[in-house]
Amino acid sequence: MTRRETKIVATLGPASSDPALLEKMIRAGVSVVRLNFSHGKAQDHIDRARLVREAAKRAGREVGIMADLQGPKIRVGKFAEGKVQLTTGQKFLLDATRTELGDVNAVGLDYKELPRDVKAGDVLLLNDGLITMQVDSVKGEAVLCTVTMGGELSNNKGINKKGGGLTAPALTAKDMEDIKTAMSFQADYVAVSFPQNATDMEMARQLCNVAAAEHNHKPHLIAKIERAEAIPRLEEILRASDSIMVARGDLAIEVGNAAVPALQKRMIKMAHEMDKTVITATHMMESMINNPMPTRAEVSDVANAVLDGSDAVMTSAETAAGKFPLETVVEMAAICLAAEAAEEVKLDADFSGKSFTRIDQSIAMGALFTAYHLGAKAIVALTDSGSTALWMSRHRIHIPIYALTPKVSTQRKLTLYRNVSPLLMDTSADRDTALADAEKHLKDRGIVKTGDIYVITCGEPMGAPGGTNMLKICKVS
Ligand code: PGA
Ligand code: MN
Repeated sequence: MTRRETKIVATLGPASSDPALLEKMIRAGVSVVRLNFSHGKAQDHIDRARLVREAAKRAGREVGIMADLQGPKIRVGKFAEGKVQLTTGQKFLLDATRTELGDVNAVGLDYKELPRDVKAGDVLLLNDGLITMQVDSVKGEAVLCTVTMGGELSNNKGINKKGGGLTAPALTAKDMEDIKTAMSFQADYVAVSFPQNATDMEMARQLCNVAAAEHNHKPHLIAKIERAEAIPRLEEILRASDSIMVARGDLAIEVGNAAVPALQKRMIKMAHEMDKTVITATHMMESMINNPMPTRAEVSDVANAVLDGSDAVMTSAETAAGKFPLETVVEMAAICLAAEAAEEVKLDADFSGKSFTRIDQSIAMGALFTAYHLGAKAIVALTDSGSTALWMSRHRIHIPIYALTPKVSTQRKLTLYRNVSPLLMDTSADRDTALADAEKHLKDRGIVKTGDIYVITCGEPMGAPGGTNMLKICKVS
């Protein structure tokens, strides 16, 4: 089987809860699973995380677990009938003080601050943009609107303001509790929804580190870019995060559909330049919720996300609640492979005009350059934190990178990195033993055979994080 470089993140839900199916999805190519904390109770996520670890074990692979926090999703309250039909042109009241259930004229609000965040003329989008309203006026705690595009509005649907500008903080009390739950099973990644700035990410990191301290665990943090305000602050958000998600669902509502493709390209490029990883998400294979085949447009979308340089492409409802969760993963994997085969290598151009001043990073870049020009079969990084593998994976060379690490936690975090295969190996012995063991790993897996060249990096003394200072070019005897 050809080795795929781009990773697949699969959102889990009722459609992917069966242990045997989960194992099949992992075998078919899921590297990271996403537990969506917008749904379910704490215990559901704890149980699901256990199922994932067990299924991964049966499949003989490590899988990363992402805890995706709900964040301040701004929602309407509930309706007496569960839903109402709104007609274009009618008046509708969003009322923060309303205690009775909603009807066709008015509904309460989960988010009580809304009246202070909007003014006459603002456009509100409800139910993922399927319904739009224009604000006529704000009277005390009530927002009077005219429906500009009608439709069915049901309980607890989300509200976005066009252009952004809702002040809700990124971390709610529920998110803080959910962080504790996620750290109790040592989630490898925590995704923060709707961050507005670096401070939101720094706060999330602090909460995670405190909650995970007793497990000596530090999750990687993913900033979901889905607010208009986050766009001018991308650089500071990236700096405060390990990874970003191009969260096209909410982002499209805030900035307008048409602005999203260009933003996707810009975000991916920026992430690469800042040595961060990036996931492209939402509606990628949407039609496969009901159909066994994607549309041509979806195939192109996934392929373009790969060509843009995404580390991973993500499924949402397709695998959480769709009819064809396994088929979605199989199709996605095939699209990634074909797109990668068409991708150009531009390593020399990548390097020109750049300077590398850190010893470990210079070694990583030296390994990449050497492997590329010598036609090496593999690049191997003996790594503690995974940073050498990260630097290498920011450049497209189509030579597989194997990260050999003694830490399961590092192995799991590296499941998201494009073109990196993380493997567990004890590196505590002396250098020569570790190098011999590494070659044995490669041979046993059929990655290299006699006569092949591979390039390996390590640090001396062994096992000190950030200590990579050696590059060796090996020919398999
Ligand atoms: P969600 O985030 O699925 O949690 O809303 C992704 C997005 O908005 O695209
Ligand atoms: Mn979202």
